[in-house]
Amino acid sequence: MSTMWQHVRTLRFKLTVLYVLVFGVLFTLLSWFVLAKWEQGVLDAVDQRLVDRSDAALEQIERAANEGRDSPLEEAVQPQLRGLRQSRYYVQLRSATGVSIVRSSNLRNVRLPLPDNHQELKKGKRPYLATISGGEIARLLGADGEMRVLTRYCEVPGVLPFFMQVGLGMGTFNTSRATLLRTFLMIIPIGLLAGGVASWLLARRSLTPIRRIAREAQALTAARLDRRIPPPVAMDEVGELVVTVNQMLDRLEDAFRAQERFVADAAHELKTPITIVKGIAQVLEKKERTAEEYDQCLSGIVDEMRRLGQVVDSLLTLARADAGMPLSTTAPVSMNEVATDVAQRWQPVASERGVRLVLQLAMPRSDEPEPLVDGDNDLLDAMVSNLVQNGVRYSPSGEVVEVEVRLVQPYVRVIVRDRGAGIPAKHIDRVFERFYRVPRVEDPTGTGLGLAIAKGVARLHKGRIDVSNRTGGGCEFVVELPLANGQM
Ligand code: ADP
Repeated sequence: MSTMWQHVRTLRFKLTVLYVLVFGVLFTLLSWFVLAKWEQGVLDAVDQRLVDRSDAALEQIERAANEGRDSPLEEAVQPQLRGLRQSRYYVQLRSATGVSIVRSSNLRNVRLPLPDNHQELKKGKRPYLATISGGEIARLLGADGEMRVLTRYCEVPGVLPFFMQVGLGMGTFNTSRATLLRTFLMIIPIGLLAGGVASWLLARRSLTPIRRIAREAQALTAARLDRRIPPPVAMDEVGELVVTVNQMLDRLEDAFRAQERFVADAAHELKTPITIVKGIAQVLEKKERTAEEYDQCLSGIVDEMRRLGQVVDSLLTLARADAGMPLSTTAPVSMNEVATDVAQRWQPVASERGVRLVLQLAMPRSDEPEPLVDGDNDLLDAMVSNLVQNGVRYSPSGEVVEVEVRLVQPYVRVIVRDRGAGIPAKHIDRVFERFYRVPRVEDPTGTGLGLAIAKGVARLHKGRIDVSNRTGGGCEFVVELPLANGQM
């Protein structure tokens, strides 16, 4: 039961049902149309024969009247009428008042009824055609017998005006129609069945690659992320799907590997200070130490704890940036204010290192927008702060670190320049990676997360960040962020 239900829910089943329904409606409409056309054609032919037959009879009467014979009307029902098979036609003449005058012998004692509108026929003299049944006709042709009857009003010189009626039994017509109808009723289900089977097979054929994709996707696990769906033979819709899914798997694998690396690096970064602190504690445990030694160990512990706090802070900021969380509540943030706050915060550290911090804010003219960015103040602050911290940290004493905010519509740029050692060419492409650090003897204190955070924040604000080495030494970091909405 459940497997049947599974079948019913498949796309293949739905496609087949849809095909069969559409075919069914089309077949039925087509059959109905063909039948109607056929009926019309046959009826037209019958009518034409009745008109021809009545013309011939009228001609016969006119000739007889011309020749002055006794009863010219009798001529209309003479069996020897030229080339026409008398027996199949029923002929009856009535006077203008409706009294039956002569009838062909095959009518026996049956009278063909005059149509209700027979008085009107006197005016136009056009033949009137109708299919009649029941009553007198039933007596002649049986209960379901039908007859096509032509009635016309005739005026022949030398004879009193009369109605001529010519009839033909519709037996053959009705049998043919029934046969045709039966054939259609037989063909339609057979056609639908064949169509259904064909579409079931066709649907299977076209859906097989999709099932394969599903199977491959099921086989994928974190451990087998390198698996791909075999490339398609034809670049049709399914081929496109395979390529798209494979590209998606590429991105997924990249993201997953990056995540793995990040977790490993993060664990390592967190473990290092813990190991150091543990080591210090174990040294202290062994024997009594002098007050000086205790002091030294304690300051070592405090340093490591500070580093640990830094790493945790950075990881949290990165996680927030990754999750895209903060930007669900954005507000216009002035980059002038962010740069001012950051510069003020880093001023004491810079002075201590003998580095001069120079701040240059954007000064928009009256027709220019304020340097506002739609975003998260804390994140933007963290981004600029990391750049300024690096500038100060990697500059030798006596140098200048410039922080500039500049409008380049529709963007606002924050540029941080220094005159430090710069970044060696082979490392410059990787400095924005998490935990990536340029190996330097003189500075072992960083975490390698600052620039990754800056890049994450820039991306979250639909902006970008670039770094280049300056001629004459040092680095230039440029962050470009789109101006707040309604400002452009
Ligand atoms: P860190 O905490 O090590 O500074 P970052 O992600 O901020 O981590 O920087 C990554 C690496 O890029 C650093 O190891 C440093 O060597 C290099 N770097 C960053 N900013 C500068 C700069 N202004 N001048 C020279 N090197 C820099």
